[in-house]
Amino acid sequence: MFLTNQRKWISVSTINISQAQIPEGESEWVEIDVGVDSDLSTVTLHLYVINGEREGPTLWLQGGIHGNEQGGSLAVRDLALELDPSEISGAVIALPVSNPSGFANKRRGSQINHVGPRDVNSLFPGDPDGTFPERLADEIFSLIRSHADAVINAHSADGETIMHTEFAYVPMSDTTTDERTSKLGSASGITHLVELDTTEMSGWMTAELVERGIPSIIVESGSGTHVYEWAYETYRRSIQNVARHLDILDGKPEETDSSQTVYSDLVFLNAGEGGFVETFVRGGDEVESGESLAEITDLKGRQRELITSPCDGTVFAIRSFPTARPGDLVIEMAPAPTPTDDAE
Ligand SMILES: [Zn+2]
Repeated sequence: MFLTNQRKWISVSTINISQAQIPEGESEWVEIDVGVDSDLSTVTLHLYVINGEREGPTLWLQGGIHGNEQGGSLAVRDLALELDPSEISGAVIALPVSNPSGFANKRRGSQINHVGPRDVNSLFPGDPDGTFPERLADEIFSLIRSHADAVINAHSADGETIMHTEFAYVPMSDTTTDERTSKLGSASGITHLVELDTTEMSGWMTAELVERGIPSIIVESGSGTHVYEWAYETYRRSIQNVARHLDILDGKPEETDSSQTVYSDLVFLNAGEGGFVETFVRGGDEVESGESLAEITDLKGRQRELITSPCDGTVFAIRSFPTARPGDLVIEMAPAPTPTDDAE
């Protein structure tokens, strides 16, 4: 039975969220204003609430907290609009665009802030009196903690990188939430699961939620420049699987074609110097320690750097943009699990 530390099963009843009341068996868009800008425009979050006809938990679906990762926003919107309250036990609340100014400007972080960090995803639990990105984080965090029993957050690679595969962040914090979070990961059917300690993800929405008893995972696939079919399907399949696992949707999670691998670390290989980038691998490739992954050459044709794998592992994302500046991400990969990891 699904039960969080925060809330018991919601009974079949009207959902009160902000000023809106959504009766059981109905779906509705709810607008939540999170600020008034200097030009008098209002910053608004648009939530789609699907209140099922039968009792059950509430699943929160979210996209676009990184405003340049828009494939997840599209999949969350489409899936939410397809859900029929008569097929739902509990509720689904979808927030396709959780960082409106970043989304509109196709930028990772909030565009309403001229100093300080802009990456809303790293500013949780937020601060109601802080910078705008901190206020936005606070508003989203409060909504989730008041209404949700489990959370899926859709991300992708950005406009300069591509992920030909899929993976999920599964935060672990030595709490009773871990087992339920871990089950979300396995139920999702995502091929590669990365279990990271929440202390390594401090400030991330998903980790801060897990620490407060709300199981939460991040699904990653695709790129910021195109909605690839495989990535779109990854979001849809994993969300449907988790909804079935929680008994919000009827049926069992789909059997996966391939077995899932659980990793316990991620490695980001960044360009030491700028130049043209040629990559020799794709997302999903298994590589060996010392294997050449990418080469950086300068505009005079000289090799500046050969990036090799520091370990055996699996490549998740590669640089797709022709060039890199110093420090830009070239390869994102996960070290192969050790036998100890498997036993855990
Ligand atoms: Zn992201």
